[in-house]
Amino acid sequence: MKIFEKKKDLELFLDTLREKGNDIAFVPTMGGLHDGHLSLVDKAKELAQIVVVSIFVNPTQFARGEDFDDYPNTFEADKLLLESKNVDVLFLPSKEEIYPHGTKSDYQVGAIGQILCGAFRPTHFDGVAQVVKRFFEIVEPNFAVFGEKDYQQLQIIKSLVKNLNLSINIQSMPTQREQDGLAMSTRNQYLSDSNREIAPLFYSALKDAKNEILEGKTISDAIKDTKNKLSKSFEVEYLEVLDANNLTQIETKTSEIIIISAIRFGGTRLIDNLIFRRKNV
Ligand code: AMP
Repeated sequence: MKIFEKKKDLELFLDTLREKGNDIAFVPTMGGLHDGHLSLVDKAKELAQIVVVSIFVNPTQFARGEDFDDYPNTFEADKLLLESKNVDVLFLPSKEEIYPHGTKSDYQVGAIGQILCGAFRPTHFDGVAQVVKRFFEIVEPNFAVFGEKDYQQLQIIKSLVKNLNLSINIQSMPTQREQDGLAMSTRNQYLSDSNREIAPLFYSALKDAKNEILEGKTISDAIKDTKNKLSKSFEVEYLEVLDANNLTQIETKTSEIIIISAIRFGGTRLIDNLIFRRKNV
């Protein structure tokens, strides 16, 4: 695995590979790698001859008071995991490499960045879009792979590619979970042992909501009951049941549904979602 810190060196290396006819698949991460990240790498391997993974904790997607300074750094373990997956290139840029002209962004996400997580983290998705756009300019991948766990982010990146007319094929992978159902997340490391035992109730409440909707409960009752259930253990930031295709309110004809939620639990913020189909009602 080649490791690059300078974008110039990476660009030269990738240009040579492209000239030889190789496709490039790109997986951006913030490190603290787990099997969720590795599932994206596996997908990238299927898609292209060359797989590039980045590890960069992007300052512009964290607001003041969030966990930028404490974000888990497990670099040596991450490197071994990526080597074991035969990743071709690991890109480890500094903040100056990514933002040589300062961190002011020239891309605004718009309305989709202000709902759900964006209502609680108003500058977050502008920062995400900014860094992904920058990485796309540097890596120029044919494919990029993202996780459905960050579903709103995935939708925002798809619209970025469309808005900027980029020829990058965006692929996604389902959420990888621990055996007890908790969605894998770098931030799970923040949970105390006792909170870690309770955390799977988050996903089980989303599963219950799905079953209740499929059994005929109204969406508004399902939302109300699930929020009540979650509130017994967690502080619910939001819980919504939306059209999975565009994150808008469900209409009678909507068949692909997402239950999407964020909670706070002992100082840790967790997000999760569940996507399912219902027959036309
Ligand atoms: P992060 O390092 O948290 O910025 O995540 C990097 C990529 O990994 C994003 O595309 C995430 O959606 C994806 N990811 C994070 N957790 C999971 C998971 N449990 N399953 C699948 N993909 C994930």
